[in-house]
Amino acid sequence: MVIFRKSTDLSDFLNVKQSEGNRTGFVPTMGALHKGHISLVEASKQRGLTTVCSIFINPTQFNDKTDLAKYPVTTDADIELLIGAGCDVLFLPDEQEVYPGGTDRARVYDFGALETVLEGAMRPGHFKGVGQVVARLLDVVKPDVLFLGNKDYQQCLVLGMLVNLMGLKTEVVRCPTRREEDGLAMSSRNRRLTEPQRAVAGLIYQCLVSIQLKKDATPFAIVQRECDDLLRKKGFSPEYIELADAVTLQPLEDYSQTRQMVALIAARIGDTRLIDNIAVV
Ligand code: AMP
Repeated sequence: MVIFRKSTDLSDFLNVKQSEGNRTGFVPTMGALHKGHISLVEASKQRGLTTVCSIFINPTQFNDKTDLAKYPVTTDADIELLIGAGCDVLFLPDEQEVYPGGTDRARVYDFGALETVLEGAMRPGHFKGVGQVVARLLDVVKPDVLFLGNKDYQQCLVLGMLVNLMGLKTEVVRCPTRREEDGLAMSSRNRRLTEPQRAVAGLIYQCLVSIQLKKDATPFAIVQRECDDLLRKKGFSPEYIELADAVTLQPLEDYSQTRQMVALIAARIGDTRLIDNIAVV
């Protein structure tokens, strides 16, 4: 695996690869890699793409600066995992490299109603920051295929929109959420859970499954209340437990027979914030 820290070096390398007829797959991450991230790298490799992973903890998407300060950094272990997965290129830029004109001058995209609900409502400015960093990375990598995890459902929709707004032909592939045995979605933030917190963390997924299973039998408002009670009893502070249109993400008051739906939960336990979602079909 080749490691680049400078965007011009990465572009030069990829230009040669692309002129030789290679197609590029791109997996942007913030590091502290786990099997979920690696499944994206594997999906890219399976398609025979020159696979580029980036690791950059993007300050502009953190509205909570303590979350940024506590974000885990495990670069040596990340490199080992990427080599094991056959990743071709790691891009490891610093802030100056990503935002050469400073963060204030990076272009801001408008994602309309998509960025004001759910995560957008709870983390003001978050998707502006995500848009800024991914736009810059797409400019450098110019991938044929962008691999994203469905675990960050709203982010997938926002970045699909970003690709369109930028007028790119990049294909967006959304990969399934990798989970621990108890259903907990793998996340870099899971490392911060204490043992007792980790012991109950699978409950978020159990709640999502119950929202899915009860769709033909119980009004959503009742299931929502049950989940809220259950989570609180186990020490969580739920931020939202929502049912939404799977395409627009606009919240739904009740199950619909005609729309594709997704259920989404964000909840804090201690000082860790976890998110997850499930398709309601
Ligand atoms: P992050 O490092 O959290 O910014 O995530 C980088 C990419 O990995 C994003 O596209 C995430 O959606 C994806 N990802 C994170 N966790 C998982 C998971 N458990 N399963 C699949 N993809 C994931």
